[in-house]
Amino acid sequence: AKEPVRVLVTGAAGQIGYALVPMIARGVMLGADQPVILHMLDIPPAAETLNGVKMELVDAAFPLLKGVVATTDVVEACTGVNVAVMVGGFPRKEGMERKDVMSKNVSIYKSQASALEQHAAPNCKVLVVANPANTNALILKEFAPSIPAKNITCLTRLDHNRALGQISEKLNVQVSDVKNVIIWGNHSSSQYPDVNHATVMTPSGEKPVRELVKDDAWLNGEFITTVQQRGAAIIKARKLSSALSAASAACDHIRDWVLGTPEGTWVSMGVYSDGSYNAPAGVIYSFPVTCKNGEWTIVQGLAIDEFSRKKLDLTGQELTEEKELAYSCLS
Ligand code: NDP
Repeated sequence: AKEPVRVLVTGAAGQIGYALVPMIARGVMLGADQPVILHMLDIPPAAETLNGVKMELVDAAFPLLKGVVATTDVVEACTGVNVAVMVGGFPRKEGMERKDVMSKNVSIYKSQASALEQHAAPNCKVLVVANPANTNALILKEFAPSIPAKNITCLTRLDHNRALGQISEKLNVQVSDVKNVIIWGNHSSSQYPDVNHATVMTPSGEKPVRELVKDDAWLNGEFITTVQQRGAAIIKARKLSSALSAASAACDHIRDWVLGTPEGTWVSMGVYSDGSYNAPAGVIYSFPVTCKNGEWTIVQGLAIDEFSRKKLDLTGQELTEEKELAYSCLS
């Protein structure tokens, strides 16, 4: 039998956490034959709720779940973890300045970086979900210098999946037949969902999305804004932010990273930018990536037209500004 993998979820008493931990315990993240030990961290005011989640995990009698650590102690939470999913963060409350939210999150991610660096298993893979996700991931990277930069990522897979979902609805095709959309840049409303290389599997072979949709005005307009603003639309409808789709996307992200992307398919991940596609280097930027043997590689050589170029630059510029804001919170 396989050795259990230890998976940390921070903010585990929150609503994404509540959707995410049962998925992990069922093998959705790491595979149906991979035992797991869940490490759940939350802050002291959420300790009782967190304990309730632990009780439910026990009650669910998941065969793959070999142990549960539920704690408010960051060192205990980080010790020996192989995968860390960072969902805990300070929410932006009404009337709060961007800088105040940034400052709270910078201090959270700075201290969690040190705990992970010192106590996580070697080669621990980190996924940051909490907003501002790209910049929280960057802070984590900066304050955990012994964790390789390639091990620190942020979630844009939900945006990627939302783009697949919109195309599938528009064309009335199965979502599993749509692939290779791209989310570029920041997990914010400046992100650029790009369909220029996306395809749909049809009975007569793979066809470009643009050729099938035959409506460039929709693809360059409403499609983009719908994906960018989907989070707000969910909040409006549910009076709560998206949780099950965010949890599901987090599982997709880690699963593809660890187990690999299918041949001919790429996914979107926020990764430490090397300046590919003239994105700013030294920020966490979402690119198309393929994964193999537990490592991601940015897909190279895709043509970027003028319309896309502007959008890649705009979201890159926002990330550079966020980075500066984050650094100003440190001093
Ligand atoms: P959620 O579980 O709904 O969300 C958690 C984080 O994920 C938020 O930062 C949220 O950003 C972010 N997020 C990223 N992408 C998405 C998405 N597509 N849809 C929804 N959320 C997304 O928040 P809760 O308030 O229910 O839970 C947060 C938990 O974190 C609580 O249990 C709290 O106690 C804990 N916490 C931990 C802290 C720490 O570790 N020090 C500090 C503060 C809280 P956004 O807010 O922009 O939606």
